[in-house]
Amino acid sequence: MAGNKAVSYVGPGKVEVDTIEYPGFVLKDGPGVNPANVGRETQHGVILKNVATNICGSDQHMVRGRTTAPQGLVLGHEITGEVIETGRDVEFIKVGDLVSVPFNIACGRCRNCKEGKTGICLNVNPDRPGSAYGYVDMGGWVGGQAEYVMVPYADWNLLKFPDRDQAMEKILDLTMLSDIFPTGFHGCVTAGVTVGSTVYVAGAGPVGLAAAASAQLLGAAVVIVGDLNAERLAQARSFGCETIDVSQGDPKDQLAAIVGEPEVDCAVDAVGFEARGHGRESATEHPATVLNSLMDLTRAGGALGIPGLYVTGDPGAGDEAARHGSLSIRIGLGWAKSHSFTTGQCPVMKYHRKLMMAILNDRVQIAKAVNATPISLGDAPRGYHEFDQGAARKYVLDPHGLLN
Ligand code: NAD
Ligand code: ZN
Ligand code: ZN
Repeated sequence: MAGNKAVSYVGPGKVEVDTIEYPGFVLKDGPGVNPANVGRETQHGVILKNVATNICGSDQHMVRGRTTAPQGLVLGHEITGEVIETGRDVEFIKVGDLVSVPFNIACGRCRNCKEGKTGICLNVNPDRPGSAYGYVDMGGWVGGQAEYVMVPYADWNLLKFPDRDQAMEKILDLTMLSDIFPTGFHGCVTAGVTVGSTVYVAGAGPVGLAAAASAQLLGAAVVIVGDLNAERLAQARSFGCETIDVSQGDPKDQLAAIVGEPEVDCAVDAVGFEARGHGRESATEHPATVLNSLMDLTRAGGALGIPGLYVTGDPGAGDEAARHGSLSIRIGLGWAKSHSFTTGQCPVMKYHRKLMMAILNDRVQIAKAVNATPISLGDAPRGYHEFDQGAARKYVLDPHGLLN
């Protein structure tokens, strides 16, 4: 078989497009592959020809050198593709199916999978619960920013689109089902968003914008998005959100002018550990700022959805404690207000089918909300660079030139 062009991590600030081995049904050694996964058979898997594979803020944490990702790691966990080969043990998924791949790799057999907690599957990552394609410390499954990728446990993991032609027409929306749309939606569901809620979403990156669109879909009365990037705040306003520029000060102080009081019902952290401070502190990183400000501005009894990523090790952190993932969180405040918190990987499978139906029936315009922008696989280094510079876009790689 021919090779496989793929995007790999070279070093801080640098990715390149290389030719790697065409995928098969036995896991091989390679950059970031857990030794205990080498030789593992995946006859329950399929090979996909990737139709759309997106660049994510989660990739940027690695590419900025803020994780222990090794050189040569093949990136990409947001995958949509066509099945071109099925393993011996695949029963229901067929060659020719057009499918969305949840970024979490899950076995469908362990206790957590059986409880629907597919973001912390026990059988796919020898280091710890939870796994993803193309990600540091996630078992070493080869990433999908590539022409082809192997997806294990295919009958369990894959969401098949009901009609190929209809799906190709909405492919820039459907490609968001692999991660950011379910992730934003999960952030809102776990923050308790319902009809009439007032919602603050920290971060106007693709996940924050997907959360904002999800809050609208869930019936929120007011959706306020905070960021310090003017272009991204304008993107949030383009579909009816209110916005707060956090470089002007604490978002709490700007809330009253919008909702009539300095608090909201529900809050979503779509920023994570690379958070900037507020007001005069916005020039530098303050990893606990978003969590502390969300506790401050969420009503007593409210909830915080926290899809923003927090790491166990951050070699680029400003202080020793943060290098080990310890942040200065004001937990006493959250306790006093009886807040609930939901962290972790979004269990994509819980939501992807219903969100697919919302897309196919024109209930939501997710590609428009996040400004989905297709580019070629060869342009991935440019996409990474512009996304890192804060472009108000969600870059969608098009490895086979199938997107318009
Ligand atoms: P991104 O980096 O594009 O967006 C983050 C945004 O936050 C940026 O626009 C930045 O300017 C803004 N920001 C920084 N400090 C802020 C502050 N104090 N207040 C408000 N905004 C602030 O990333 P993204 O792709 O939108 O992803 C967001 C986060 O979600 C990342 O941490 C990513 O790893 C995480 N993520 C988690 C899951 C999950 O399953 N839990 C899935 C996907 C992404
Ligand atoms: Zn992602
Ligand atoms: Zn499992």
